[in-house]
Amino acid sequence: MKQLNDINYNQLLHEVEKPSRYTGSELNSVKKNWDEMNLNVLLAFPDIYEVAMSHLGFKILYHVINSQTKYWSQRVNMPWIDYEEKLMENNIPLSSLEEFRPLNEFDVIGFTLQYEMSYTNILRMLELGKVPVKTKDRSNQHPLVIAGGPCAFNPEPLNQFIDAFILGEGEEVTLEVLNVIEQGKKEGISKETLLENLVNVEGVYVPSLYKATDINGQFAGLNPVAEGIPTKINKRIVKDIDKSPFPQELVVPFMEIVHDRIMLEICRGCTRGCRFCQAGMLYRPVREKSMDVLVSQAEKLIRSTGYGEISLSSLSSADYSQINQLVEKLMEKHQQQNVGISLPSLRVDSFSIQLAEMVQQVRKTGLTFAPEAGTQRLRDVINKNVTEQNLINAVTEAFNSGWHKVKLYFMIGLPTETYKDLDGIVDLAFKVIKAYKDVHGKKGKLQVTVSTSSFVPKAHTPFQWLPQMSQKELASRQDYLKDKLRSKQITYNWHDTRISFIEAVFARGGRELSDVLYAAWEKGCKLDGWDNHFNYEKWMESFAEANVNPQKYAYGMWDVDAVLPWDHISSGVDKHYMQKEYKKAYKQLITEDCSFDKCSGCGICKNLGYDTKKVRRGDNA
Ligand code: SF4
Repeated sequence: MKQLNDINYNQLLHEVEKPSRYTGSELNSVKKNWDEMNLNVLLAFPDIYEVAMSHLGFKILYHVINSQTKYWSQRVNMPWIDYEEKLMENNIPLSSLEEFRPLNEFDVIGFTLQYEMSYTNILRMLELGKVPVKTKDRSNQHPLVIAGGPCAFNPEPLNQFIDAFILGEGEEVTLEVLNVIEQGKKEGISKETLLENLVNVEGVYVPSLYKATDINGQFAGLNPVAEGIPTKINKRIVKDIDKSPFPQELVVPFMEIVHDRIMLEICRGCTRGCRFCQAGMLYRPVREKSMDVLVSQAEKLIRSTGYGEISLSSLSSADYSQINQLVEKLMEKHQQQNVGISLPSLRVDSFSIQLAEMVQQVRKTGLTFAPEAGTQRLRDVINKNVTEQNLINAVTEAFNSGWHKVKLYFMIGLPTETYKDLDGIVDLAFKVIKAYKDVHGKKGKLQVTVSTSSFVPKAHTPFQWLPQMSQKELASRQDYLKDKLRSKQITYNWHDTRISFIEAVFARGGRELSDVLYAAWEKGCKLDGWDNHFNYEKWMESFAEANVNPQKYAYGMWDVDAVLPWDHISSGVDKHYMQKEYKKAYKQLITEDCSFDKCSGCGICKNLGYDTKKVRRGDNA
């Protein structure tokens, strides 16, 4: 087999659209000596370079592993079609960015699972890297394939392909896992023994050590095949986020990427409790980084990267208890260097004029709000504790401060949604236009972008038992909005309902879905999250071949007491709490955020031994 250095690599790069996706050698990328390493690890992101390099978790793990002198973590991502074709034409395996090392030479390949629609890319990347895609076809002569990230909380659709999953935050557990693998390599143990050793690490799930049981043909759960293997796998968290490793140097790509800026994680977790939101449940409890740590990290990152923008990253950045003081401090220190601050995820109820004015001093970065639903009734159903007045106040303040562009995110097809709720979306968009006119006397430069995604029931959320709306109905609701949102000031974006359907199937799928995935990969499905590459017909053929009815997963109304395919995986949030939240949704009853109010009994503090009183929120409530 040829390797990259056997061919005219420069020539090959001339023939692809964006060569810097594949060249590596970026500022702050890490080079070590392969032969001196106890383990060579490959962090794999199953999407293209621009997406991979924008992901904060990927950067943190790259730093965590490379901070160990005995381990080297390299990176790889899904190639775009043009480069993939060149690799195949020349019979060259997919290889790492750092030293063009083929995938099959690594000790460990670790995939990050952010989105169900990237699953076929995992199989494709393994195939291109000459690694057998199925775990049963790999021995200790092959890389161990592990995976983590939010989708690992329903791992079963990937059970035939991933040797071990890591649940929860990777900073500590990744090194524990690598230590076990390193020891296994030294001792030359079999892959089976290594996997048995790995289940002793808290937070690790090895699918081959669990067997599905049934009662009268009904799925009754996944249970360990032997004694000593935990029946429930608990997620891992980092308790002290101030002390948790965070890179002081970030890889700076040669090309523009999705988030081309410093991402400073100010807070982890969100206890607002939106009932559809998987991240809100999975990343609990809330942990804030202290101001001092953030200011020092920002300073080092600006120096090491040269970036002119810092994004204050978290699930709900404006909820950070000292957000105004933090922005003020960062502006004071870095304004001279022309460094701008951006807040990627604002809540309409936490926005303030002071904050708006502070962040716009250097340059106007995007302003995005996510009311999620158009009426108060539906916002109460989903527990989005914001009002129309909150939004209008926030945009009015923003328009007064000189903003002309606003993005509004909504979800359609939410449980109990009617056309009245869609009218509410339209109404809100036009009220935003009116608020602009009230400030500026005319509509002028205003641009409002309304984006709707379609509700996908996700594992480990209070809405996990609920069906997705049919594709036909979602499409007609999109058409309704297209028609009603006609205005020079409004741009309306929507999602392909067929992609949302497949996403729902895999989000609630069990082990049998791995046969569908395999069939889809064999048919050439890949880059499914990209509208122009998604092939619905091939997916439908794959379901038929695997004898799996996709509607059962996307459209099934499941009993709240039914055993779920992910019941052996614990996010730390009690199932009982989710059942309670589900019932409250139908009564339009709100659950307060425990960061500002009393504990609502989600169970995570008790289950993970965390003291939530450490989170300070009072001054921003
Ligand atoms: S257990 Fe209570 S205090 Fe802790 S995150 Fe859950 S609701 Fe909040």
